[in-house]
Formats: sequence, structure tokens, C-alpha cells
Amino acid sequence: MDNLYFDAAFADAEKRAIQIGERFTEPRKQVFQSLLNSQSPLKAYDILNQVSNSHEKNTKPPTIYRALEFLCRIGVVHKIESDASYYICSHNNHCKSATHSPLFLICKNCGQVEEIHINELENSIQSAALNSGFALSKMMLEVHGICAKCQNN
Ligand SMILES: [Zn+2]
Ligand SMILES: [Zn+2]
Ligand SMILES: [Zn+2]
Repeated sequence: MDNLYFDAAFADAEKRAIQIGERFTEPRKQVFQSLLNSQSPLKAYDILNQVSNSHEKNTKPPTIYRALEFLCRIGVVHKIESDASYYICSHNNHCKSATHSPLFLICKNCGQVEEIHINELENSIQSAALNSGFALSKMMLEVHGICAKCQNN
């Protein structure tokens, strides 16, 4: 990842924070940075270790959790619910709504996550919920298996 990628990602996150009247604070930036640096999803305690190491201060877990919650809320980070790990959304400007979920393809071997969007699938789930009189507040679509790269190795 080059610097331009980082600059663009930071500028985008900052813009989204301002749009909802919040600040892209230093802890939020540090958490975002460690996720940007990582090739695969990270758990909150991995992020805590990285942030504490690189900034030589005693960052508290609640700070990390609040930053993660914020980054998910503005749509730049996703939480993989099944193992409570976090990673950078690969579809900029898309995954902002809470009731929208990409299909997460999660590799059991290397931990990489691929995001695909299947509108028909989302629409089916939304109308199924609607038909049951259910008010959908959040959708998570996770699939676990072995990615194409790992199958070829
Ligand atoms: Zn996404
Ligand atoms: Zn999306
Ligand atoms: Zn893999």
C-alpha cells in the first residue's frame, strides 16, 4: 500500500466524520491506521497492542472499542461478527447503511475477507423480513471456507 492510498483513506474517513458532526480524533486515526496496515482482519486486542507499541502510551481497551464502533458507523470498517474481528471496507462509498451487508467470503486458512455485493440477496432478505412484520436493523452475511488463492497453493 502506498502513501497515496493512506492519504485518500484518511481524507475520506475525515470527511465522513465531519458529515455526521464528529471529529476524526487521534485514537480513531491510530486504530484506522493499524487496520489499514493489516492485510487481514484484526481483533481489538491486536489493535490495542499495535497502537500501544507504536505510540508508546497506555491506550485503554474502551478507547479502542469506541474507535472501532465509530469506524464501523461511518462505513470504513466492517466487523466480522462470528469472530469479532475488524477490517477495512473494500467498497468505498458503498457500505454505509446498517441494513446493507456485503456478502463476506472469509478464508479459514489465510483469514482474508472478500466482499461481494448481491443486491438480489439483500432484497430477498429485506422483503422476507418485511413480510414477517420484522423491522430489520442490521444484516450480516458471512460465508466461511477456503479462498481461491489458498486452494491453489
Ligand atoms: Zn464494505
Ligand atoms: Zn457495500
Ligand atoms: Zn485464503
